[in-house]
Amino acid sequence: MDIIVLKPGGYDEEIKHIAKKLEGMGLTSRISKGTERTVIGVIGDTSKITEETDDSFRAIPGVENVMRILKPYKLASRDFKKTSTIVKCKGMSIGGKKLCVIAGPCSVENKTMMLEIAKEVKKAGANFLRGGAFKPRTSPYSFQGLGEEGLKHLEAAREKTGLPIVTELMDPRDIEAVEKYSDIIQIGARNMQNFRLLLEVGQSRKPILLKRGLAATIKEWLMSAEYIMSRGNQNVIMCERGIRTFETATRNTLDLSAVPVLKKLTHLPVVVDPSHGVGILEHIPAMAKAAVASGADGLIIEVHTNPEEALSDGEQSMRPEAFKKLMKELRPIAKAVGREI
Ligand code: PEP
Ligand code: MN
Repeated sequence: MDIIVLKPGGYDEEIKHIAKKLEGMGLTSRISKGTERTVIGVIGDTSKITEETDDSFRAIPGVENVMRILKPYKLASRDFKKTSTIVKCKGMSIGGKKLCVIAGPCSVENKTMMLEIAKEVKKAGANFLRGGAFKPRTSPYSFQGLGEEGLKHLEAAREKTGLPIVTELMDPRDIEAVEKYSDIIQIGARNMQNFRLLLEVGQSRKPILLKRGLAATIKEWLMSAEYIMSRGNQNVIMCERGIRTFETATRNTLDLSAVPVLKKLTHLPVVVDPSHGVGILEHIPAMAKAAVASGADGLIIEVHTNPEEALSDGEQSMRPEAFKKLMKELRPIAKAVGREI
């Protein structure tokens, strides 16, 4: 037994009773109230629950059916929740008709540049500002980010532009600071399977942008979303950012087939990061357009006013004019697939 589907109607008392009964079995419940039906997700090890126990739940008034989900992820699954999740954040929606565009530098470098870039991306039509204060760098000698000081620069940019902030959390020890300044917490590709970190952000009230691991299958990625959701945070946004393949012509191989595949398997919104996905400036617009055409709910793009001097990922950062042009070119594509930008 993994989900309990209730008949249409109230049944508040029965829901409480079911939750209590599950608690007695060492399990917890997550309630998803749809417009027609309420579904209770059973959280914990359900593999040893017998058919008889399933039947005892079927006997509870209001219970329409008790089902097993064959997939290893439940809360993230479309079997559990049929309607697509729209993540709400500071008046913005991710997963609705309107596409969400997150733009900004790879790293926060100083206050002046942060304000300048924030102004530019806002002018071009971005809905969120990105920028890393804690950077996962391959080399320990590369710029590691400004830490909390960087978060303060992001806050200043939000104050000036009103753009909500997306920034990465790498270590549970920084969660308090990142939660305080951010609007969406990014979990980077390298930490997609840092399970302790996932459980930690599962307790946060902030939405989580979960990037795909460098060599993660879609199933593993969904299991990571499940880790977060199992702790109560249902606001997870999946972010395709390219995977490692044998191909060396691009920084990563942007797996756009992940978009329709995810849309079928999960109700969670999906955004695409063409910047890290290809890592080559001139190919980013093509892949951003393809991402929108493939049904993505949004994009996350690196933009810098002075890419030459950028402290990280300058070579793949778009200049504001190019970003503005791309935003315009995305409009008819969004429209063709029934979306707005
Ligand atoms: C980033 O967004 O700057 C970043 C480091 O991304 P990823 O974790 O996908 O490499
Ligand atoms: Mn980057």
